[in-house]
Amino acid sequence: MDRINVIAIDGPAGSGKSTVAKLVAKNLKFLYIDTGAMYRALTLKAVKEGADFNDQEKLIALSKDLDVRLVESGGDLKVLLDGNDVSEKIRSMEITAKVKFVAGTAGVRKNMVRLQQKLGRASSGAVMEGRDIGTVVFPDAAHKFYLDANSRTRAERRFKELKEKGFDVSFLEVEKDVKARDASDMTRKVGALKKAKDARLIDTTDMTIEEVVDKILAQVKDIR
Ligand code: C5P
Repeated sequence: MDRINVIAIDGPAGSGKSTVAKLVAKNLKFLYIDTGAMYRALTLKAVKEGADFNDQEKLIALSKDLDVRLVESGGDLKVLLDGNDVSEKIRSMEITAKVKFVAGTAGVRKNMVRLQQKLGRASSGAVMEGRDIGTVVFPDAAHKFYLDANSRTRAERRFKELKEKGFDVSFLEVEKDVKARDASDMTRKVGALKKAKDARLIDTTDMTIEEVVDKILAQVKDIR
């Protein structure tokens, strides 16, 4: 199979994936695809519809008709659900805590993976970040990276991010969420978070964003 012009970046919450992926995409003039935002948008849709999160058939039906668009806007990514800007709403603790119900449903993942593959293939080059990009969505990606950092550092980064966005959260709450998401992301039966065998591991604990971006850019020179 031909290697596809996709840079896959996977890793746990707070590993720095989103910030880094966005900057790498900007530098290469590639499309940036935040697959976590897609799972979050679906979760918001289910909340809006008053769905029972244990009703897998309902969640699968919602994922089949999902109208989610990722639009670049002034250096940032806007997430549109049914045409409405939900970029902020999908970051709330409520949505974050509920994503695991949609992300753990096999039929949902099948539809989401298909949508992500379509987006990646339609672009002339994409940086796609998530949990299963290098393992499931694009096992044939041109380059794969797995970002990690210790859980304390990751919780601190998430806390800072949420505070900056104006969410009223405590550090303990965020730390608990990061640990709970690690556990559910790593142990689910489908699309579990794990490093692809051929992904390069980058421990970002003591690295600046620029250092991580430079390290990735240095290794993807062939597809510029
Ligand atoms: O990346 P972010 O933290 O926004 O992702 C939110 C949640 O979406 C993750 O905790 C994970 O459960 C789910 N997700 C996933 N597969 C992806 C991306 C995100 O299951 N490719």
